[in-house]
Amino acid sequence: MRDHETGGHRARKRFGQNFLSDPNIIRRIIDAIRPQPGDVMVEIGPGLGAMTAPLIERLGHLHVVEIDRDLIARLRETWTPDRITIHEGDALKFDFGSLADGPPGGEGRRLRIVGNLPYNISTPILFHLAEFAAGVKDMTFMLQKEVVMRMVAEPGTEEYGRLSVMLQYRFRMGRLFDVPPGAFRPAPKVMSSIVRMVPLPAEQLGATDEDLFGRIVTAAFGQRRKTLKNTLREFMDDVDFVAVGLDSGLRGERLSMADFVAIANHCAVRHR
Ligand code: SAM
Repeated sequence: MRDHETGGHRARKRFGQNFLSDPNIIRRIIDAIRPQPGDVMVEIGPGLGAMTAPLIERLGHLHVVEIDRDLIARLRETWTPDRITIHEGDALKFDFGSLADGPPGGEGRRLRIVGNLPYNISTPILFHLAEFAAGVKDMTFMLQKEVVMRMVAEPGTEEYGRLSVMLQYRFRMGRLFDVPPGAFRPAPKVMSSIVRMVPLPAEQLGATDEDLFGRIVTAAFGQRRKTLKNTLREFMDDVDFVAVGLDSGLRGERLSMADFVAIANHCAVRHR
């Protein structure tokens, strides 16, 4: 199937290009973001500017990160540099910390990140963005609904997994509303949702060794039908399970965030 032509631009599938075209949905998203003059905001993947235009109107100035050279040329023709700062390139490699106004967790204005994200890179981009949480005020994204359901999933549900635990560890998250395929040109095959992510204060995070926490969560969900005794063999033996008060016959999807933090902190002490 050939790429779809939208507003004189041929939408590129490899860049996950589905452009928002429904003015009511665009208004609802902008209202949900609540841009305030003085906010330091970056939009990932401005595309043809559906959200960029109302954001610049309300903020005065906006940073954008875009990979498609044709779209970058159009953005340059539309706005002058005092209104838009265009960061050309791959958002997966972009240093979002460089836009935070002041040191992470300091007095400066923290960054607000928004975007109708390219769905083909949703998971890696969420993990990349999580690294900058300390300098971020909030993030509001459109993603495919199935991914948002996994992000906000509770323990014991089918959607609950590594993405849920790793993001809920760092962010308070809420699904705001759904957006049907007809709101885009070309229309994607799937339903989309808007999600808001607000970084939790550093003192609430709890894992003494975050790298170990991440490795344990990854292992626990690596083989979904296996019990913790099997998936966490590398980290824990029977005595450790007794020490943290967990049944080794459970599966990862039963464990709460607090359980994962308790396991990681126990292992951090034990492996020291
Ligand atoms: N914001 C526009 C809208 O709502 O109509 C476009 C959204 S479209 C789903 C995704 C946008 O992200 C496109 O403009 C695409 O070129 C851009 N994009 C894709 N991959 C990217 C990447 N790795 N880094 C930066 N931008 C990317």
